[in-house]
Amino acid sequence: MNDPNRENIQEKATPRRLFLQALAAVGSGAALATGGMELLDGTSAQAAEIPPPLTEPVGNLLVRMQRELEQSLSTGRPQWLMVVDTRKCIGCDACTIACKAENPTGPGVGFRRVIKRELPVGPRPWVIFKPINCLQCDDAPCAKAVPQGMIRKRPDGIVEFDSDRLRGAYAQAAMRACPLNQIHVDDGKTYTYDTPQPQEYEERLFFENGKWQTRKPRASQLPDSARKCNFCSHLVEAGALPACVSTCIGGVMYFGDANLRGSLVNEVTQGRRIFKHHNDMGLKPRVIYFEESMPDTPHLDCNACHY
Ligand code: SF4
Ligand code: SF4
Repeated sequence: MNDPNRENIQEKATPRRLFLQALAAVGSGAALATGGMELLDGTSAQAAEIPPPLTEPVGNLLVRMQRELEQSLSTGRPQWLMVVDTRKCIGCDACTIACKAENPTGPGVGFRRVIKRELPVGPRPWVIFKPINCLQCDDAPCAKAVPQGMIRKRPDGIVEFDSDRLRGAYAQAAMRACPLNQIHVDDGKTYTYDTPQPQEYEERLFFENGKWQTRKPRASQLPDSARKCNFCSHLVEAGALPACVSTCIGGVMYFGDANLRGSLVNEVTQGRRIFKHHNDMGLKPRVIYFEESMPDTPHLDCNACHY
């Protein structure tokens, strides 16, 4: 990416071992560093140095992201980035439902989920919620697992599938290659397909990867094809924010253009600890996470919540 601010982002994937050491310390009654926060990489930081989540009303953030989206589309060189602040997530799954409503999928699968983990830290349970979707990797293992062109890295950063070709054995290969299990192979089922009254909303037309699709039995071309999140590219191209972003009541996701000077995604990531999934594999994800706890709370390693 061409964004000079990216140089200011500290990349760090703290090993699970350190998290376990921290748990052991809590269990043995050891206190966290007073007056500051003990980080699991052995460093410490004053609580005041750890910025809390933005308290700006969610509506204001959405309006700003919407304006920036329109501005970026008019420049023609956007580099889409999603930044996730898990500290603001309450695990309501509104984003999961919004995603399913926007991108119809069959029973038991979807493009997005919210992982919930209860961690035995301190006298009361800690529950961490972490929304996850396809990372739109710059160096995507799924693309390497299939013939060239079936999975395309778009100039704006979105990883897009060729739904006509990425089918059968190729779809299975792509699914197996994703280290985050973000691809599923469509089985063609709907929630009401074997009921007396299949529901119309399940058979509606929707746009995905550049073409109209339906889940209507016998008319659908989706069965046996690989599917995943594509940042709601059909919405973004039409000037709207991804469904999960515009639905989240907590303002957990920041979405925007890393190429746009002064954009919200650049502003919120500047100088912050950033967690990138499988950084050791060099995926270069376009979905990144703040690796910071709330001020005055124990720091929990992102790896603790890996699934
Ligand atoms: S997260 Fe998985 S599906 Fe998405 S681009 Fe990376 S490897 Fe491919
Ligand atoms: S960007 Fe769109 S497709 Fe991706 S998780 Fe969000 S709602 Fe689902």
